[in-house]
Amino acid sequence: MALIVQKFGGTSVKDRSRIFNVARIIMNTRNAGHDVVVVVSAQGDTTDDLIAKAAEISSSPSRREMDMLLASGEQISIALLAMALQELGVSAVSLTGWQAGFNTDRAYSRARIKRMDTERVESELARNRVVVVAGFQGLNRSDDITTLGRGGSDTSAVALAAALHADRCQIYTDVEGVYTADPRKIPKATKLKEITFDEMLELASLGAQVLNNRSVELAKKYNVELEVISSINPVPGTVVKEEANVEGMLIKGVAKDSDVAVISVKNVPDVPGMSFKVFSLLAQRNINVDIILQSSGAEGKKDLSFTVPLGDAESAVAALQNGASRFGGGEISVDKNCAKVSIVGAGMQSHSGVASTMFEALFSQNINIKMISTSEIKISVIIDEQDADKAVAAIHDAFIN
Ligand code: ASP
Ligand code: MG
Repeated sequence: MALIVQKFGGTSVKDRSRIFNVARIIMNTRNAGHDVVVVVSAQGDTTDDLIAKAAEISSSPSRREMDMLLASGEQISIALLAMALQELGVSAVSLTGWQAGFNTDRAYSRARIKRMDTERVESELARNRVVVVAGFQGLNRSDDITTLGRGGSDTSAVALAAALHADRCQIYTDVEGVYTADPRKIPKATKLKEITFDEMLELASLGAQVLNNRSVELAKKYNVELEVISSINPVPGTVVKEEANVEGMLIKGVAKDSDVAVISVKNVPDVPGMSFKVFSLLAQRNINVDIILQSSGAEGKKDLSFTVPLGDAESAVAALQNGASRFGGGEISVDKNCAKVSIVGAGMQSHSGVASTMFEALFSQNINIKMISTSEIKISVIIDEQDADKAVAAIHDAFIN
């Protein structure tokens, strides 16, 4: 007998029939002799709808009240799912995040879990009940409701699995697992049996929106093996763990991220402290800079280019213009029509020629590379947005098919 945490996302519980579908998955796990703790998200688009409702009242609602509002979505799901389980004759109880012992810091709308008090969950398990816990929510030290940020239910599930020392943590969703590329765009994309935490972290931040990034970080920290699996189609999913079987695969995935803008500052003085002066202006506005390129100086001048999230591009340009006197001016420009295409794979660390294969695939499509960055398990290029899908297909062909 094992203790299994099963998390179900919003689409998996979006209506009556999906709720009963989930209840049957839980019942089957129970009947196989396991203890089950369930974490659920709000149904379908509930969270978005609640955000829209708030916007009808206020353009800048208090963050405390937003969390009070948004937490209600998950509360609906847990009650309905517990009722469905009871309809099927399964003994079940629903618990809010605070009843289940999620203690968080004070940061409304992006709270972090500080401590888990699992006595209540454990005592319900001891009474042979399925425990249905609301994801995404917790309580801060003033006993006010907090939420963990969008997609936070994945994190709730991992935190519970870690605190309860669960044998397994299954993340049920509306896709069948993690693929080598977006299967809607690349028909040849294949489902991965296994992937490492580090590879998953890279792929998630690159736009493969299967698992919330924080949940993967937490799973890595506490070594909670995750299984991403479909709630609709009962086939084996993808296991995310510390060390995955490479199976001869150098590259685990090819991802595209259109959420990038390239900012260039040309003709700045080629003197010490220049990069510090430029990037401190962005740090003051909490803007994350990703890839940085600096030309070698000539005639006392040099050029700087770097990428920022698309949504921060305007604010970054404004910060640079306002602070231009600090770094001696220059020509500031922004290119919003770019995309980052990356390959990810722990296996590439020990292989040569990976970059050259990737660049050859781009050359075969006559795609120009604007920037390149590499890490031990990833190579990214910045290219024109309009070339991005073609690039992913060509690179995927070169490595995976
Ligand atoms: N309901 C929340 C959201 O939509 C949390 C979650 O789904 O994980 O972001
Ligand atoms: Mg999700």
